[in-house]
This record gives sequence, C-alpha cells and structure tokens, in this order.
Amino acid sequence: MALRRVTKMGEPVLRKICKPVNKFDEKLAQLLDDMADTMYEADGVGLAAPQVGMLKRAVVIDVGEGIIELINPEIIETAGEQTDIEGCLSVDNINEEVTRPYFVKVKAQDRHGNEFEIAGEELLARAFCHEIDHLNGILFVDRVEK
Ligand code: ZN
Repeated sequence: MALRRVTKMGEPVLRKICKPVNKFDEKLAQLLDDMADTMYEADGVGLAAPQVGMLKRAVVIDVGEGIIELINPEIIETAGEQTDIEGCLSVDNINEEVTRPYFVKVKAQDRHGNEFEIAGEELLARAFCHEIDHLNGILFVDRVEK
C-alpha cells in the first residue's frame, strides 16, 4: 500500500490540462494502485491523477460498486440533469450544489490500453464528470451556481 499526498486547491498542478497516457507500463499500474489506496484512505469516491501531482489523464472511481479505472477518458453521451451537493478531496471545507447530467457514458482505456465504454447514472455519472473535469484543470467550485 502506497499513499500519495493529495494536492490542494491553490496548487498549480490542479489547474493544468493533463497529458494523454501513451505508455501502459508498470509505472502506470503503480500510479493507479497508489491512487486507489489514496482514495480509499481518504474515504473518497474518486481521484484524478493531478490530485496526486501527476499531469496524466488517469482517474479512479469507486461509488461502492468496485474500482473503475479510466485512462484517457472522454464523455461521449449525456442525458438529463441532477443537482446535488458535491465535495472534493482537494478542496477542504467546501461542499456546494452542482448540476450535472443524470446519465453519462464514457469511452476510456484500461490499464493495459484496451478501449472500453462504461455508463453510469446518479452518483456514478457525477463522479465521471467531476473526475474528468480534473483532467482539464476544472474544480467543482468553478461549476457552483452563484
Ligand atoms: Zn475532486
């Protein structure tokens, strides 16, 4: 088990566009394992690579249905709308309502480079959006309706 330090709002790494992953090697596997450990330790439902200081398009999510690893994820379909309280392991002491699609379908690669598609509703759809935002330097606080 290897925990990594979670970066916090204000650190530049959280505001950069992450680079696509093109090497599906042991280093990527280690990063994903460490991200999962770090997420579970912090009781989070998702973690993106820039939250452990890595500018790579890699995400881990677990909304209680097992670990989902997304490499180079892209949202390819959305439907509906939901508004609920959101928080982030990189943003301390702020929980605010954010409106997201109710249904989200994502195209991604697994840790071996194989392409797949996955769809989710409710919390999982929200997690897809929140974590993929991180890969583009966007934090949920940017999406709070003022
Ligand atoms: Zn977050």
